[in-house]
Amino acid sequence: MKKLLIALTLCLTALTSMAGKHYTVIVSLDGFRWDYPDWYDTPALDTLAAKGITSGLIPSFPSKTFPNHYTLATGLYPDHHGIVHNTFFDKVSDSFFSLANKATKLDSHFYGGEPIWVTARQQGVKTSILYWPGSDVKVKGMLPDRFLEYDKAPRLTFEERVEGVLNELRKPEKERPQLIMAYFEQPDAHGHHFGPQSKKTRQVVMQADTLMGMIYRGIQQLPFAADVNFIVVSDHGMTWVDEGHQVPLKSRLKAEWVKSIQGNVPAMIYAREGCTDSIYQALRNIDHARVWKRGDVPAYLHYGTNPRIGDIVVCPDGGYLAQDTPVKGGGTHGFDPAEQDMHALFRAAGPDFPHATLPHFSNVDVYPLLCKLLGLTPAPNDGEVPAGL
Ligand SMILES: [Zn+2]
Repeated sequence: MKKLLIALTLCLTALTSMAGKHYTVIVSLDGFRWDYPDWYDTPALDTLAAKGITSGLIPSFPSKTFPNHYTLATGLYPDHHGIVHNTFFDKVSDSFFSLANKATKLDSHFYGGEPIWVTARQQGVKTSILYWPGSDVKVKGMLPDRFLEYDKAPRLTFEERVEGVLNELRKPEKERPQLIMAYFEQPDAHGHHFGPQSKKTRQVVMQADTLMGMIYRGIQQLPFAADVNFIVVSDHGMTWVDEGHQVPLKSRLKAEWVKSIQGNVPAMIYAREGCTDSIYQALRNIDHARVWKRGDVPAYLHYGTNPRIGDIVVCPDGGYLAQDTPVKGGGTHGFDPAEQDMHALFRAAGPDFPHATLPHFSNVDVYPLLCKLLGLTPAPNDGEVPAGL
């Protein structure tokens, strides 16, 4: 009899969850380390943990903002979606991609793969995207149903973004998007300026938590609150780099060997014709960094098949920067994702999440997870729905 009752309850639960349409809100807090909630007061994130999933995300290499937000959206490693760094050179189009240059940042041809908002739109699921990196660029000829231009001034304040998310949910059912994504630039900026362990960063982490609390409470006030999943993620962590911790590159190389050097965690060196070996030989035994030719990057980093990656990749050890300019000291990221300081936040609660603590999982798994929550058939990707979700 007891078994029968359990079976009946399970059937009823399955039927109820099939009957109701579920909504998903996913927010990214840039540079929010996985362990900030252990260091600082984060009551809202603690509530999500108490009701749902506590875990962390392992970023993709390099643990930089643009490559990783686009990985979260597509389920592809940067090597596979093509945004291989925040700045890089594309031999095919003979052009530089740079976040600082609006024309290249909005140039569709740099963006491969299929972001979740395109997958959704193709399958008739409405989305609304507030500033997620890459969401204001046409990919496969499509934009999200609703999006905001990141470079258009004035940018919404953080409080306005919170209201923006809730207003989308308050729309009549016919117009209501099933997926809402929002991006917040903090605590990354303070993490860079003051380091992850500082009063200022603590303050901004607590402010971010307050904003998440406003969204969570707003969701609870909806008549269909029980149908809304709320996920908070980040793109990467943050670690401290001491003054004087630079690994010089240029001073070890002949100027005629080098076309350009992009970035410092990792540094990508674009070689002049026939000079890759000379650069490699000059750098291979340097201290505090690993140096690879593009094709020899270790397999676990999933990096090195895309021709946009430099001919030589210099990955500094945690706490060092690959640059000639003396380091003044500050926070940074971009390092090997195996370093736990680079791991990012993951919290989720709602009708589709059990209460559990899960081992950290790769951020390529977020796209298939979102597809599962929305009932979408995913495009080819590098991830899988994490065990237990
Ligand atoms: Zn970032």
